[in-house]
Amino acid sequence: MRPPLIYHPAYSAPLPSSHRFPMAKFRLLLALLRRQGLASEEQLHQPLPAPRRWLELVHGRRYHQAFARGQLSAAEKRRIGLPATAPLVRRTWLAVGGTVLTARLALRHGLACHLAGGTHHAFPDHGSGFCIFNDAAVAARVLLAEGLVRRLMVVDLDVHQGDATAAIFAGEPRVFTFSAHCASNFPLRKQRSDLDLPLADGLEDHAYLAAVGDVLPDLLDQQRPELVLYNAGVDPHRGDRLGRLALSSEGLLNRDRLVLDACLRRGIPVATLIGGGYDELTPLVERHGLVFRAAAEQARLHGL
Ligand SMILES: [Zn+2]
Repeated sequence: MRPPLIYHPAYSAPLPSSHRFPMAKFRLLLALLRRQGLASEEQLHQPLPAPRRWLELVHGRRYHQAFARGQLSAAEKRRIGLPATAPLVRRTWLAVGGTVLTARLALRHGLACHLAGGTHHAFPDHGSGFCIFNDAAVAARVLLAEGLVRRLMVVDLDVHQGDATAAIFAGEPRVFTFSAHCASNFPLRKQRSDLDLPLADGLEDHAYLAAVGDVLPDLLDQQRPELVLYNAGVDPHRGDRLGRLALSSEGLLNRDRLVLDACLRRGIPVATLIGGGYDELTPLVERHGLVFRAAAEQARLHGL
C-alpha cells in the first residue's frame, strides 16, 4: 500500500509576501511529492472543515468565534502571529479536519500522512507561535469520543516543546504526550509532558538519534497506544532559522524511519503531521518531504 495523503488546495492561504510564515510550503510540498513519485492521485484525500463540535472538544467557544470573526485582542493576535483573513480562517478549520481525517485513515490503513498539521502551541483559549487550533489534540479527543481508540500517544519531535498539547492532556490518562525538543528554545516557559526529552543546543544526528532511540521503543511497549500522532517538525535541522539543533537531512530522514519503524513493527498505526520548519522555501519543502519518503519506505517494509 502507498500511504494515504491528506491535503487541501486551500492550505496555502495567501499572506502578504513580507510575512515570515512560509505559507506556500503546503502547496509546494505536494508539487515536490508529485515530482518525486511519492504522491499519486489515488493516494490523495481532501478533508472537510472541522465541525464546531469537534473543535469544542478542545477549544472554548469564545476563543474560536473571536478568532473567526477577527475579534481577538491585539495582544492575542500578536501572540498568534498570523492575520485572521477569510482564507486563513478557512485553512485553519480545514487543517484540523485534515488531521482528524489523517488519524482515521491511519487507523484503517496503518499509516497516513497529512501535508499540514502539528500546531502544538495552540491552547484551549488562546493561540501562540503561528498555532491557532491544536489539531492533534482535537483529533485525539474526537477518536476517543467516538470510541475508535482507548489510548493514544502524541510523539512530538518538532524542535519546540509541544507545550499546549502537554497542558491539554495533563491529567488525561488515555493520551500520553512525549516531546523531544531543544531545551533553550521557544516556549521559554515549558509545560510538563508525560515524558519530556530536553536536548542541548547544537545536538547532531548521532546523539539525537541515540536519545530518541533509547526512549521510544520502551515507551511504546509500556504504553501500548492504539494510535500514534507523530509531529515530524523539521526545525531540528541545522539549517533551520529557529531550531538551534544541528541535524542533517539524512538525520531527519533516519529519525522519521526510526519513529515509523518502531510503531509499525509493533502494529501501532501512525498519523504523521508535518509540524514546523523555518528557512527558504526550497530547502524547507525538501525537508518536509522526508517524512513522506520514510512513510513510503516503511509502508513497503512492513507490508501495509
Ligand atoms: Zn517548531
